[in-house]
Amino acid sequence: MVPPATDRAAQLFTSTYQRPARWLGSAPGRVNFIGEHTDYNDGFVLPFAIGQRTAIAVAEEEEPVVKLVSEFAPGEVVEFPLAEVTSAAVPGWARYLQGVVVRLVEKGVRVPGFAAAVASDVPAGGGLSSSAALEVALGSALEGLSGSRLDRAELALLAQWAEHHYAKVPCGIMDQFASVMGREGHLLLLDCRTQEVQPIAWRDDGFSILVLNTGVSHSLAGGEYAKRREQCTLAARALGVASLRDATLEQLTSSRSLAPILFRRARHVISENERTLQCAAALETSDWERAGALMFESHYSLRDDYEVSCAELDALVEIAEQLGEERGVLGARMTGGGFGGSVIYLVAAAAAAEVQALATAAYERRTGRVSRSFITRPAAGAGVQELA
Ligand code: ADP
Ligand code: MG
Repeated sequence: MVPPATDRAAQLFTSTYQRPARWLGSAPGRVNFIGEHTDYNDGFVLPFAIGQRTAIAVAEEEEPVVKLVSEFAPGEVVEFPLAEVTSAAVPGWARYLQGVVVRLVEKGVRVPGFAAAVASDVPAGGGLSSSAALEVALGSALEGLSGSRLDRAELALLAQWAEHHYAKVPCGIMDQFASVMGREGHLLLLDCRTQEVQPIAWRDDGFSILVLNTGVSHSLAGGEYAKRREQCTLAARALGVASLRDATLEQLTSSRSLAPILFRRARHVISENERTLQCAAALETSDWERAGALMFESHYSLRDDYEVSCAELDALVEIAEQLGEERGVLGARMTGGGFGGSVIYLVAAAAAAEVQALATAAYERRTGRVSRSFITRPAAGAGVQELA
């Protein structure tokens, strides 16, 4: 057995810097249960934190410098003077961390010179938001080191700021909020307009989530994402609302001027917001069949109206339909931005391992690809601990 990321980060720290770390920050990846491409439309999302975490071990340096090392490249320590944090040229993976330090300093947090070592159990680039986990884990570790605790929303927004300005990814607020505020046994209903978070209990241990990675990530994702955002802005303007969050399906169907493509994009966003609220309500009343049905509807809408799915995602959802309720599969949908990444199944816990084996075998037969997969339930959010 490989030790967990928390242990490996501490070990990597010691083997790299020849002394023990003082603080260990860690933060989870996330799965979005439902509410896709709604975040940048001021809408609702329903993610939860998963058990896999990114861990960062840190300790103060005598000199005002920053030293970073990751398991990704164990021999390569990235080092720069703290005074040059805003401009230092660092490799791509370290930019997420650089951005966090920049923003903490801007906020007046007293960040000393420090060394850090990163290890992660969140697969990178798999649609589980290893990037948010990375940012939030460092933010948490530096909370320990600097002795200042941030407001939870402030920490999430700081991490998002780092992703926007240093990794140059224009993400919404979902990933960082889920990573910071995740709560064991709960999903988070997040209103992306007000940034209010409502925990929704996962009421029954009889159900689990199976996460299946397609093993593909199509390169059009970035450009198509920007296009969808623009189409949403245009659709909202045509409907006379500030954002699609404010539009109803009645408004949409009675509008005459909307181009067909904008109509379909808007229909996805408006209906997805409704599904997300309905799904939260279904989970509150343990109506698992309804939650599962909403997941399938969400997928079809993303596939047909929003056009962000791909053959591999569709294959995994079709396999879920074929397995069906008799095998314990209640629902399935793509999760994350699309064009690859992962699919989630809502499954009866007792059947989850069998479904996992059947689905991965069927996927390999259909696509020739191996799907990495795991079974999970909502887990805890970010934290920091002082090491002895
Ligand atoms: P996702 O967030 O869906 O996993 P992203 O492309 O947003 O995918 O983020 C992945 C990137 O985050 C990686 O390419 C790498 O730069 C960085 N990253 C994630 N985890 C680590 C890690 N443990 N060590 C170093 N860099 C990491
Ligand atoms: Mg990411």
